[in-house]
Amino acid sequence: MPEALPWNSYSSYLEKKYGYRIWRVGVDAGFSCPNRSADRHGGCVYCDALGSAAAYQRSFDGNEVRFQNIKDQIERGRSFMRRRYKAEHFALYFQAFSNTFAPVKKLREIYDAGLEGNTWDALIVSTRPDCIDERKVALLSSYKDRGLEVCVELGLQSGCDEILKAMNRGHDVSCFLNAAELVTDAGLELSVHTILGFPGEGERELEMTARAVNTAKPQFIKLHNLNIVQGTALYEKYLKCEAQAPDLQDYIARACFLLRRIRPDIVVERLICDTPDGRLVSPTDFPDKTTFIKVLSQYMDSKGFRQGDLFI
Ligand code: SF4
Repeated sequence: MPEALPWNSYSSYLEKKYGYRIWRVGVDAGFSCPNRSADRHGGCVYCDALGSAAAYQRSFDGNEVRFQNIKDQIERGRSFMRRRYKAEHFALYFQAFSNTFAPVKKLREIYDAGLEGNTWDALIVSTRPDCIDERKVALLSSYKDRGLEVCVELGLQSGCDEILKAMNRGHDVSCFLNAAELVTDAGLELSVHTILGFPGEGERELEMTARAVNTAKPQFIKLHNLNIVQGTALYEKYLKCEAQAPDLQDYIARACFLLRRIRPDIVVERLICDTPDGRLVSPTDFPDKTTFIKVLSQYMDSKGFRQGDLFI
């Protein structure tokens, strides 16, 4: 891996800020998602029954979703990272579905239960922009008083309302920007999730995504290549040849386009999706994350591209 990547990488950010790596222990606390209820027509078209949960958190056998105990998830995650990577610092990461989709009292119980009994450096909560409000933000802020870094991950996915509608996201760009403002005004860290390569996305739409990201003023961004996953509405379209996911070359072009237009100091936490092979239908030509980083950085270096060199 090159010493200096052409983007602001998460590992170098951690090294500079803390001098050590913080390992994320992703948990599925059994939340659902307001966008998956009957009146929202079943959720985002690319989302399956597992809603970003890892296999060790929640499994689906075609009929029934099986939920793994949160304490077991945490202990398994921490032990594995200690054993495999000699990890010493951890962030509790509420990852699957919408992790603010409950009344504040219930949220406090869930977050407290996850944090109890272990030492944590950070609390990370992933959610939808229409599922957070002042009271939930105030609750999350209260964990900063316990010495934790607190980060809210918000799904923008696209900065184009037409694409959000086609995704069946159930919110628009202004809803995302309002939620982002709530989070940053409270002094919480903000991470923005984007999906690149949804059908209908061209340079105009990618530019809108870059503008929305920059307007939100996040500390972090995650880029995901569109994945077509079994059991989703998008998969049905794919079977009818009405949708496809970008292949590796196409995605590299999109990722470069976005990276060059976002603020140079936003930290890039992720660059591709990692849907397990058993669930992923397309694309099939992507390498693992480490190889992808190498391929993308070599491509950007060869063209003289840098994150933010076309900042808008
Ligand atoms: S908001 Fe997340 S969990 Fe809900 S339907 Fe969309 S992708 Fe799935």
